[in-house]
Amino acid sequence: MNECIFCRIIKGQILAHKLYENDNVFVFLDINPYTRGHTLVIPKKHYQDIFDIPDKELEILIKEVKKVAELQRDKLKVKDINIFQRNGLLAGQEVDHIHFHVVPRYENDEVEMLPRGQYTGKDFEEVIKLLTR
Ligand code: AMP
Repeated sequence: MNECIFCRIIKGQILAHKLYENDNVFVFLDINPYTRGHTLVIPKKHYQDIFDIPDKELEILIKEVKKVAELQRDKLKVKDINIFQRNGLLAGQEVDHIHFHVVPRYENDEVEMLPRGQYTGKDFEEVIKLLTR
């Protein structure tokens, strides 16, 4: 079976534009950026998605995501940043190695995120029933 592309990047088998790495994470530029500086933050250990990664490792990862956001804020001089992460085919996950996108936003960058909808009828109540703990 083909090895995960992000695992191969971590091992140096595929060239990536690395910003930095440490024992836990690898941080590099997205090859098809939404904006200039769009960065991916991945754990060095292979986990498929949010359900797969243990909480402890997710904590480490999200703290690193914040550091990358601060780096972009300070070095790229941006104030606004999108942070997101996809799970599964329907969500548009292309690489099955959990990763956070950190996307600096610029005035008039014309990047559009997901379109929004509206609740109708009893939808609100039904969804609330299902998701309320
Ligand atoms: P997702 O759709 O959330 O799974 O995001 C996968 C991301 O990985 C996409 O934004 C791709 O542009 C990016 N990507 C895929 N291959 C590479 C690569 N070799 N180097 C850098 N980024 C990559």
